[in-house]
Amino acid sequence: MAQRFPIAEKRLLRKLVCMRCSATHRGYRVKVCRKCGYTGLRQKAMERRAG
Ligand SMILES: [Zn+2]
Repeated sequence: MAQRFPIAEKRLLRKLVCMRCSATHRGYRVKVCRKCGYTGLRQKAMERRAG
């Protein structure tokens, strides 16, 4: 990922990541991982760019 994705950065905020298998899910309404069924989903961390 050498390029910058200004649009993708916004999408990251709406992604949920499974803390078990690291599968990503769209939207906030997802509560259970569709891959492994794990309920430990967390919102993808918002990484602030320096500056
Ligand atoms: Zn999972």
